[in-house]
Amino acid sequence: MTENYLDTVFTTEHFSLSELQLTQFQNYYELLTERNKVMNLTAITSWEEVCVKHFLDSVMLWKYIDAAVRIPEGDNKKQERSEEGFNEEIRYSVIDIGTGAGFPGLPLKILRPEIRLTLLDALQKRIDFLDEVIRATGLREAETVHGRAEDVVKKHRESYDLAVSRAVAYLPVLAEYCLPFVKTGGLFAAYKSGDVEEECKASENALAVLGGELEKTEKFVLPDGSKRSLLLIRKVSATPEKYPRRSKKIDKEPL
Ligand code: SAM
Repeated sequence: MTENYLDTVFTTEHFSLSELQLTQFQNYYELLTERNKVMNLTAITSWEEVCVKHFLDSVMLWKYIDAAVRIPEGDNKKQERSEEGFNEEIRYSVIDIGTGAGFPGLPLKILRPEIRLTLLDALQKRIDFLDEVIRATGLREAETVHGRAEDVVKKHRESYDLAVSRAVAYLPVLAEYCLPFVKTGGLFAAYKSGDVEEECKASENALAVLGGELEKTEKFVLPDGSKRSLLLIRKVSATPEKYPRRSKKIDKEPL
């Protein structure tokens, strides 16, 4: 494992990493591969593949949404220099729904420590692992929540600037899990692989009902040739209280 590889891969996409961030990614990798021996966290285990398919793939969102989410430029520096903690006005709340082993939420947070991150997953073992990574990397303003999105949403409704989710469900279902968490005016970013036209078409009704609007689709190719799409969905109006429905209903009768 060489630090350089991560640095090189990130530099290709114009992301620069501090020593601290490099160390945080390494610590994360070490825990991921260690705990993966006793629980199911990831099928990808080589350093090179994790750097590309997990770390880089996760942070690519920051290339596209700076303008859309209006994080003022230079806030990274402000946060790094602040000794008393975080500046309230720059806290930007992000929830990762069905985060699994922390993707994309944790890499997004390592790269932008000024965000306030919530990692949500239905499996307690994965939550325990994430708590361990948060401790080992020294990340602040990162919390975990155990439960299914549709069950825990009551406490979190319409309260995040950004919801992200990767590899959790087909978009009409995923939108019902995620959009209720987002503030009106905020964004939901769905990480998808390959072509997404059909999936977008199939989710038109769901988005309209839940108060979302597909604003942009960003397509990119990872250094290993994998095709990815980021669907950027704007929350244009509040989600009606009756959504999300119960788990079975969401799965059986997608909107
Ligand atoms: N997002 C991670 C990634 O891209 O590597 C994990 C993807 S994994 C295939 C799907 C994860 O979503 C699992 O950890 C599962 O427990 C979680 N999950 C599925 N449905 C969920 C729901 N309704 N609420 C919360 N978590 C959910």
